[in-house]
Amino acid sequence: MKFSDLGLAEEIVRAVTEHGYVTPTPIQAQAIPAVLSGGDLLAGAQTGTGKTAGFVLPILQRLSDKTAKGPAAGRAPVRALILTPTRELAAQVEESVRIYGKHTRLASMVMFGGVSINPQIQRLRSRVDILVATPGRLLDHVEQKTLDLSQVQILVLDEADRMLDMGFIRDIRKVLALLPKQRQNLLFSATFSDDIKALADSLLDRPALIEV
Ligand code: AMP
Repeated sequence: MKFSDLGLAEEIVRAVTEHGYVTPTPIQAQAIPAVLSGGDLLAGAQTGTGKTAGFVLPILQRLSDKTAKGPAAGRAPVRALILTPTRELAAQVEESVRIYGKHTRLASMVMFGGVSINPQIQRLRSRVDILVATPGRLLDHVEQKTLDLSQVQILVLDEADRMLDMGFIRDIRKVLALLPKQRQNLLFSATFSDDIKALADSLLDRPALIEV
């Protein structure tokens, strides 16, 4: 199995190859085609399995398929939103987006609390295709009307069990209410408590199921 067998575009395969990956991990081999198909996904995966590339690579592909060629435009709406429980994870995921997306025209941003909001407001004035965020600061921006989520096509809840453990369920529900109804939802969790199952039931439409 190679990355080029999974239906990924040449510029994405080139970036992962340059990053030193040779073979997709089991979760990548399953998640990449599932996400490319456009359907919802429920994935049981621990950190260290390669889950990040499992959702980032097909998201890059889906968004760059729809990005018009030509000079990189100025402002563009957020089309993929990745929520994480912690700022460390948010920063790590966004770094992966930049590494794997370096040969695409897509722009990403990371957003978390505990730092000044003004540089984030400034950054939101230019193109952000993929936003990686923790829930609290995301909602601060929505309240200040500095962030528009009305064009989000793909939502990822990464480490959803940790988000619930940290008490983010109400924030997550608030974010969900701000998104277009028609969208692709991906939920990643290491464990499956009743709370996670309830969230998955309400969020996901006939998801593909992956467990590694
Ligand atoms: P993750 O589970 O997404 O946090 O990834 C765990 C680690 O595995 C990270 O350091 C990745 O850079 C690395 N990794 C992810 N996919 C691959 C792959 N296909 N081949 C080799 N290393 C990988």
